[in-house]
Amino acid sequence: MKAAILCVGTELLFGQTVNTNATYISRQLQLLGFDVLYHHVVGDNPSRLERLIEICFEDCDLVITTGGLGPTEDDLTKEVIAKALGDELVYDEASLASMKKYFVETHRKMTENNLKQALFPSRGKVFKNAVGTAPGFVSEKDGKYIIALPGPPREMMTMFDNEVMPYLSERENAVLYYKIVRTYGIGESILETVLMPLIHGQTDPTIATYAKEGECSIRVTSKRETIDESKSAVEEMMVKIREIIGEHIYSEDDEEMAEVLVRELRERKLQLSSAESCTGGLFAGKITDVPGASNVYRRGYVTYSIESKVEDLGVDQAIIDKYSVVSSEVAKEMAIKALEKSGSDLAVSVTGIAGPSDEGDVPAGRIFMGMSWRDIDGRVKTTFKLMDSGRHDRRKNREYAVLAMIDMVRKNIQNCSKK
Ligand code: ATP
Ligand code: MG
Repeated sequence: MKAAILCVGTELLFGQTVNTNATYISRQLQLLGFDVLYHHVVGDNPSRLERLIEICFEDCDLVITTGGLGPTEDDLTKEVIAKALGDELVYDEASLASMKKYFVETHRKMTENNLKQALFPSRGKVFKNAVGTAPGFVSEKDGKYIIALPGPPREMMTMFDNEVMPYLSERENAVLYYKIVRTYGIGESILETVLMPLIHGQTDPTIATYAKEGECSIRVTSKRETIDESKSAVEEMMVKIREIIGEHIYSEDDEEMAEVLVRELRERKLQLSSAESCTGGLFAGKITDVPGASNVYRRGYVTYSIESKVEDLGVDQAIIDKYSVVSSEVAKEMAIKALEKSGSDLAVSVTGIAGPSDEGDVPAGRIFMGMSWRDIDGRVKTTFKLMDSGRHDRRKNREYAVLAMIDMVRKNIQNCSKK
């Protein structure tokens, strides 16, 4: 079935309220196997609302509205829907009763205009509002459905989950299944090019690539009659995708790279520390964002100045003088010192120019990452990575450096031994 979402409210047009209802409903409809063709927003204006309903019904079978179900003068969604479906509004006795009960229970006085909330199109079904007063409803004419939901997100979501989901899942016989695959180290255009033989001419499963901050994800979606069929179609496609870009995939479950790293460290019972210069603690922040990080993250040193690298971390001033502070040697030395000082099993470091300006002859975006660990015989090993982004965007340089650090640790993790 094809669907449209129509959100009513002048505050949405003014930009005062973010249209989170449309996002939520779209996601849920996707899961139910509906194709969402439109998101519309309209102010509290009956004739424009009516016109939009007509437009949506030109190629959709289902329209879901949110907002304008309340008791006030500007709440006009129901009247317009009844008119659009050639129906009239009548009182629903059960809704009247439960509304009166709600007002008694919440010690509020019910006013005359509240009665309006118990009026519904005569053909259709009322959806209870478990967390507010305005009930929703579904009404149908000639195989076209309109579902009207309240505007406040909590009321809308509760009603959607409790009432609308069961109603719709009985009416849609295709089941959607999808996987979101996260990749690192391959740009979107290359990704699309190498996957083109799979994408091209493919109607089910479909493959879509998305560029995110410093990485790309791929969504593989199948819509078949049963969930088992959808799942196995996606799995078959995943085999082909892994063959082509397997080395770049770090999650097939839409996880953040930091989550994956924390999990892998936990599984190996390894402890990590970090010494950061140009990222100023962003790496520590990213890792400790992940629940359970306390099991694997030991210490973080923010050594932003040269003195702190020498005094707090113990980096040899002579190495800085010889190679300059932005160098692979200093990055490695920072990692070694962090490893020693922290007593962890592995340590990662970063030093570079975040920008926006170049510093002397060192261009913005030149960032060295170091890593230090012990091998199976207890010998201390190091490696480094250079990100020469050429970018002057300070935020991106710092965030992408953190991603590169996480990636470096993740790729080397199998070489690390417990202390
Ligand atoms: P009420 O009984 O509260 O009047 P209603 O169904 O009439 O409910 P509206 O008056 O249109 O709904 O909206 C109530 C509030 O819900 C708005 O002030 C806004 O904060 C929020 N809201 C409305 N539409 C959306 C939306 N599409 N996304 C997010 N929030 C919304
Ligand atoms: Mg209202």
